Amino acid sequence: MAEPSQVVTRFAPSPTGFLHIGGVRTALFNWLFARHNNGRALLRIEDTDRKRSTEEAITAILDGLRWMELDWDGEVVFQSKGAARHAEVAKGLLDRGHAYLCYASPEELAAMRQRAKAEGRSMRYDGRWRDRDPADAPPGIEPVVRFKAPREGETVIADRIQGDVRVANAELDDMILLRSDGTPTYMLSVVVDDHDMGITHVIRGDDHLTNSFRQTQLYGALGWPAPEFAHMPLLHGADGAKLSKRHGALGVEAYREMGFLAEAMFNYLLRLGWSHGDQEIISRDDAVAWFTLEAVGRAAARFDMEKLTSLNAHYIRAADDQRLLGLVLPLVHGAIGKELDETGRQRLARGLPGLKPRASTINELAEMAAFYVAPRPLALTAKALKQLGPEALAHLAALAARLGQLEDWTAQALEETVRGYAEENGLKLGAVAQPLRAALTGKTESPGLFEVLEVLGRDESLARVDDVGAKVGA
Ligand code: GLU
Repeated sequence: MAEPSQVVTRFAPSPTGFLHIGGVRTALFNWLFARHNNGRALLRIEDTDRKRSTEEAITAILDGLRWMELDWDGEVVFQSKGAARHAEVAKGLLDRGHAYLCYASPEELAAMRQRAKAEGRSMRYDGRWRDRDPADAPPGIEPVVRFKAPREGETVIADRIQGDVRVANAELDDMILLRSDGTPTYMLSVVVDDHDMGITHVIRGDDHLTNSFRQTQLYGALGWPAPEFAHMPLLHGADGAKLSKRHGALGVEAYREMGFLAEAMFNYLLRLGWSHGDQEIISRDDAVAWFTLEAVGRAAARFDMEKLTSLNAHYIRAADDQRLLGLVLPLVHGAIGKELDETGRQRLARGLPGLKPRASTINELAEMAAFYVAPRPLALTAKALKQLGPEALAHLAALAARLGQLEDWTAQALEETVRGYAEENGLKLGAVAQPLRAALTGKTESPGLFEVLEVLGRDESLARVDDVGAKVGA
């Protein structure tokens, strides 16, 4: 579909908690649609609910988007700053007869709510002040301003994802535009801001569909062209229920903390509900080049941790070693309880390339790598200890003496020496390799033994072998 000459999208989160991964997906789709069309992607923080909006939540949103490298054009808009403008628009509607003052008392509204509940439907304001003379206003009640919504006919949205969706206007009540304290509601603020910011496409979760009907009516009354709408199916958990806490972490920062890379999140959230043939690995540039709303699916997307994890493993393998080192370092510092010196950092850097094909998260990578720089003497797992009986220790001591003579401390020379020693002593390679691995790593599983020896270096390797001789043999 041909888009208007200037596409403008927006991501409009409410800062009332963390940045939900569903929100990140909404942000991503808005960003991609704008970038694909050489348009603008704007960010608006919907902080009109002053009680629930927090600075921490704003920071979490900005951090999360920055981490995902979703950059926004122009200044961030804070919705609360537009309150005066929103109120002015409501007054205009009042003047033109598209809105009215409603003096229904809290008791009357409570009764309406009760009735709705008893009838098993959601509360609908019955329009009792719609055509009433404000001269009848009861004393002591500050009125709200309500929208005089059309009662006849229907409202239709040509949704870019869902197709035509419609609602009978009789289904929608007269919503509040200004509260009795004069503050604007979400429904009013969104329409005014989207209009003033020149938003051409509103892309958001399909939980906003009813809002979109109401907002479409408001655009009509204001005589403003409505933006195009695209409602994305919501995220569901693997069991098909709407994604919630019991499915696991919901905030994007939790995924970062679990050791997922931003590009894996990007790729995964993109593929969740959008496809390009059967392409699974999609780079940022390809995503921008290929993204269209037509390729967004209509079915709810299921969040699948396993898929995300395997994509993450892919992106770890592809990641630059220096970058991985930067990500792993603070975790390793935490694990060993101290900052590494230059030797330690270099050793870690040498060890990472061999480990990265085995790790599916950064945290796992850090965990696997920690033994390279753990302070001596290493703590040994029970399984590792089992490898270190008296006979094994005797062989280790003899082998270490031989390794100490090696001129060339390379994986290849080390392998020849260890194999040679095993053969000469009529042993299987494992009979020497396993104890050696236990001494060097404290564990029974590690990357290739000769690689480990090479990365650790001569002094550290021999010292670790010495340590187990002293400790276990004593
Ligand atoms: N602030 C709303 C929310 O976080 C979204 C509003 C919108 O996209 O229009 O749910």
